[in-house]
Amino acid sequence: MTNDFKIGVKIYSSDWFWKYNLSYQSAANELKDMGINYVIAQNKYLPMNNSAVDSEIPVNKLKLMQTYDDRCFRDALCDTGIDYLGVCNFFFDIDLINKHNSIPVNSKGTPAEKIDWYLGGCPTCDEYVDEKINQIKEAMENLDMDGIFLGFMRYPGFWELWLPETDASKWDEYCFCNRCITKFKKAKGISIPKQEAYPGEWIKSNAYSEWVDFKGDVIFNIIKRIRKVIKQYNQNAKIILNTVPFNNEHFLQYGKEIFAQDTKKLSEVVDIFEVMGYHQILKLPYSWIAQAGQYFKEQTNKQVICTVQAKALYLDGIHANKGRAQEITPKEFNLSINSVKNSGLDGIALFIWADFLKQKFEKHDTSFIDSIKQLAHSK
Ligand SMILES: [Zn+2]
Repeated sequence: MTNDFKIGVKIYSSDWFWKYNLSYQSAANELKDMGINYVIAQNKYLPMNNSAVDSEIPVNKLKLMQTYDDRCFRDALCDTGIDYLGVCNFFFDIDLINKHNSIPVNSKGTPAEKIDWYLGGCPTCDEYVDEKINQIKEAMENLDMDGIFLGFMRYPGFWELWLPETDASKWDEYCFCNRCITKFKKAKGISIPKQEAYPGEWIKSNAYSEWVDFKGDVIFNIIKRIRKVIKQYNQNAKIILNTVPFNNEHFLQYGKEIFAQDTKKLSEVVDIFEVMGYHQILKLPYSWIAQAGQYFKEQTNKQVICTVQAKALYLDGIHANKGRAQEITPKEFNLSINSVKNSGLDGIALFIWADFLKQKFEKHDTSFIDSIKQLAHSK
């Protein structure tokens, strides 16, 4: 990926193929016409659970999907000059979490429960990590990807619930399972008094900075391994880290302390930090997106891109009535993407392509796409 301002889009479903009947080449052309330089795309080698996005295919389209070939899409993008980054939702693979019994536990020893669509995995389960890395190998081998986008590469927690009124002391922190505590004690040479009923509570009160450092190392070492793997297939392959967007001003150090993304440390193994600028989810003004990006730019001195959402999210179910804005207007979207560009950051990642396709093909509204095209032409 070049050093120019980059415009990317997340492709978390294949509805462009089964719903809008685009061919591989016409899909690539559609993206190019929008001004897209890179995609963050799901594929069969990197299985994806449903999240806020429904990636599932309707039963009556399964037959059509049997004819779908990730390689053809990847090649069409390559021929069109668009970079292809596969998305690996690392610690969000519910089948694997269950298979390896790696449900995380909190400081009182209580196992995490699924919240809405989310259940994160314990990051110290070696068998789980090996299996995910094998998936990445397969994807590199079969798709010659330009890099890997690491989603959920962090300690567990549904950060999207962290609204400005959140009390950090009441937030469950993970993972204090026996394996994590044993590895922590060994790595840091710390012994925990035997009579402690809750070793996790003891760690939080007595060895918290060592604990945060340990967790940061766990994530660092996994990414380091992945980096080595992808470089075997493509020397220029990049690692993009899906980054919890907690900048100092709004959320203190919780991205590092609770979610274990020590971005200073990680700048050694990550090429591009993708800061999750979902401002409407966090009830913040659009101007915060670029501020958050700049915080990570200062921390890492690496390329930083910001995600910009194209529609309002987390409005129903457990998320209803939390005071989130009900819509993102074309004007707000336009201001959002331009504010990132004007701040001197390295690019944007639009969330998600399906929303733009729906606007264009179902609502016959191209206002959002036009904003992106304008931005692309102003580069
Ligand atoms: Zn654990």
